[in-house]
Amino acid sequence: MGASGQSRVLGQELSVGKVSDSGTPPPYLPTDTSRPSPADQIRFIANVERILAEGSFVATYKYALLVALVELAIERGDDSNRELVLPIHDIADKFAELYWRQAAPYEADGVSSRGLVLHQNQGRQASAISRLVKLRNEMQGSRSTLAHARRSADWSPLVGQMRSLLKSMPLWRLQRVGHEDIRFLYEPGPGSDYITLLPGVACHLRERAPLIRRLAETEWLRFVLSLKQNQPVLGRAVGLSEFLFGSSRAALSLKVSKPLRELQSGQCFYCQGTLSATAAVDHFIPWSRYPRDLAHNLVLAHGACNSRKNDLLGGEPYLERWVKFVSDHDSDLLQLGTEAGLLVDRATSVAVAEWSYGHAERVHAEVWLGGKDYGHLSRNWRELLR
Ligand SMILES: [Zn+2]
Repeated sequence: MGASGQSRVLGQELSVGKVSDSGTPPPYLPTDTSRPSPADQIRFIANVERILAEGSFVATYKYALLVALVELAIERGDDSNRELVLPIHDIADKFAELYWRQAAPYEADGVSSRGLVLHQNQGRQASAISRLVKLRNEMQGSRSTLAHARRSADWSPLVGQMRSLLKSMPLWRLQRVGHEDIRFLYEPGPGSDYITLLPGVACHLRERAPLIRRLAETEWLRFVLSLKQNQPVLGRAVGLSEFLFGSSRAALSLKVSKPLRELQSGQCFYCQGTLSATAAVDHFIPWSRYPRDLAHNLVLAHGACNSRKNDLLGGEPYLERWVKFVSDHDSDLLQLGTEAGLLVDRATSVAVAEWSYGHAERVHAEVWLGGKDYGHLSRNWRELLR
């Protein structure tokens, strides 16, 4: 590799020395200066999609972490296949910056929340966020800018706290998808105070920065809207989002539960156990993948089966059962859908299933196999749709 690459790594070590309190700078990394291939890029985006769609979220930290990595890759990476060592301290510093803006009392269109700060996690507000809120409150009026905050004596301990938060959770969970660890972004180390972006990752993050940022921010927004603690402040916005993009599940359940129960002989579509009075209407192809209520895409399931399946596709035995179900009950589903005022289109329902399973196979998505079992599709799923 060339001298410019070497000086970049050395420059990084210098900046690491300044900001890190861990003492040891990361070792020099052997690097590959070729660029990642287009196929690598597609695989990379598919994995980003997977962590956003299938990862579990109890807070917004993973979104912030993804945005922080994009920014650091832009600021410090290059367009080669090189690895990039990042001090966790510097990711924490980005974190504090990203949340600074959000730590202000929520206010929109002149409507004030009377000082309420939006929650970013389930349960009690994280202490790192509360500390940011406190610092914001202490800096009154025109002095409450990020630049002033960064210069204050409280900034460094705040970043320290963000670093603990990062290490305790999001950093090691971001790459967990369902029950798998798909390490495609970074590895821990060298040492306990760094992570290393894998070869090509900085380049991918730079190349697809606007898309990744938009995906992360959209999911972040969705999460903040969904938190119960934020509903007193965001009530109207939650209603709007539900109105614009949501499924009216309550109304749906009222209209189709009874006829579906009859078609399924009172059994859960998935485990085939007896359904109790309170069953859940399940979108066979999850709403998150295809947000339209097609009559043929609805089945009735136990609440527990429904929530274990969550936003995943059912495994091949379920696909096989569904294909048989919609073909055996085509005219019943037509009638049920028409009476409930739903869209009825079996051909489209099957086409949507084909698209969704095809996508899941390509990105190697996890599927639900029943109970607490999860796995992957084989190539045979296509046969089931013939
Ligand atoms: Zn069940």
